[in-house]
Amino acid sequence: MKNRLTIAIQKGGRLSDQSKDLIKKSGINFSTKGDKLLAKSNNLPIDILFVRDDDIPSLVSNGDADLAIVGENVLIEKTLFKKNNTVKVLDLGFSKCRLSIAAPDNKKNMRLANKKIATSYPNILKKYLSDNNINATVTNIHGSVELTPYIGMSDCICDLVSSGATLEANNLKEIKVILNSQAVLIKNKKLSKNKILIAEKVINRMEGVINAIESKYVMLNADTKNLKDICKLLPGSESPTIIPLEDENKVAIHALCQEPIFWETMEQLKNKGASSILVMPVEKILN
Ligand code: ATP
Ligand code: ZN
Repeated sequence: MKNRLTIAIQKGGRLSDQSKDLIKKSGINFSTKGDKLLAKSNNLPIDILFVRDDDIPSLVSNGDADLAIVGENVLIEKTLFKKNNTVKVLDLGFSKCRLSIAAPDNKKNMRLANKKIATSYPNILKKYLSDNNINATVTNIHGSVELTPYIGMSDCICDLVSSGATLEANNLKEIKVILNSQAVLIKNKKLSKNKILIAEKVINRMEGVINAIESKYVMLNADTKNLKDICKLLPGSESPTIIPLEDENKVAIHALCQEPIFWETMEQLKNKGASSILVMPVEKILN
């Protein structure tokens, strides 16, 4: 039995760069030459498979790939009404978007009952309509969904939105969000014993990279009398380290903050008498 772990990622598209980046930051070295569909890691028993995102859920479910990075929208669409062997293991925090119903600007108050809705996500849309007892017709189309109301193919659409610029450019108004999505790490449910060990290593490392993205290491000096107030202001820090300073009225506080530190927080710290406030990025966290 093959002992190398296979990780499938999107070959070229919105998920590709960040998927490769996450794999590299997890310490899996590989090089992509030309148009190759497979890259072998030279430091771990791992192969990276480059494919279309639509094929990812079935590759993982069939066991042709062991782990994969895919949009949760695609994962749900491809697995919704099917028995499958995939399981989501991590939210990865990038490629955030939503699946929304949108209608032409001049019909933004339309009711969905008895309307024709064009989408590339027929399963998710059908589930939404049936959960909400809406009787509408779903038309499946791959690509250029936003044009369908103008050629008489649909009354409204159900498509991915991130900034909303594409909808606006096509005079469409978002009327209902039906799913919030982001990139997720998925796994085959039935990995062999050999593969489980290496898969767990990859999952833990990816989790460490993801947790580090929002985290900051904060160092500052403070008056001992303000210690409690200052610690309360440090967002998402469990138990800061307090270090005595030569001046007995002062201490240094070091804290790992697992939430973003905004300028406002730094200004509040300063108002409480904190000085030399340093906020540093964190590369990896292993809990
Ligand atoms: P492929 O050639 O692999 O089939 P694709 O054209 O279907 O690619 P992309 O447009 O590259 O897919 O999008 C991949 C994923 O990126 C989407 O499924 C979604 O999870 C995410 N995404 C984030 N923002 C957007 C957006 N504004 N529009 C579309 N997808 C987005
Ligand atoms: Zn696709």
